[in-house]
Amino acid sequence: MFKNTKRFRIKSDPPLYRCIYCQKSLSQKIDLERHHISCKSRKESDIRDKYEKIITCLKSQLREQKDMYEQMLIDQRKTIKDLQDKLENIAIKAVSRPATKNTQINYIQQLRPVTEEHMASNVSNLTIDHIIKGHRSCGCP
Ligand SMILES: [Zn+2]
Repeated sequence: MFKNTKRFRIKSDPPLYRCIYCQKSLSQKIDLERHHISCKSRKESDIRDKYEKIITCLKSQLREQKDMYEQMLIDQRKTIKDLQDKLENIAIKAVSRPATKNTQINYIQQLRPVTEEHMASNVSNLTIDHIIKGHRSCGCP
């Protein structure tokens, strides 16, 4: 009589515990806990969750790096523009200003040395006045 009642109750009662991963029905909580340890669907789900977290983290890092590099690009473009403007201003000032001491030094450095051939070919242009003026300008007695 007791056995029949128990069997009847198990058959008629809906399963109380269901595995959320594989939907397997179990009659007792302890059975469900034991099932969870070996449930393949649960293991797959755990692995999927783990990799989804890693992917989410990597996507976030990628987005941060993208933002950082875009900002660096914006900054560098601004620096280039500033330098171009400065260079343009310097070029404009250099053109409008008379020759500076540096320009004169550069001109002197580019002069070719006087050779004997050069002096010989130009000696016909030399007058006595040149010699007299040259003597006075050097400060000799
Ligand atoms: Zn399961």
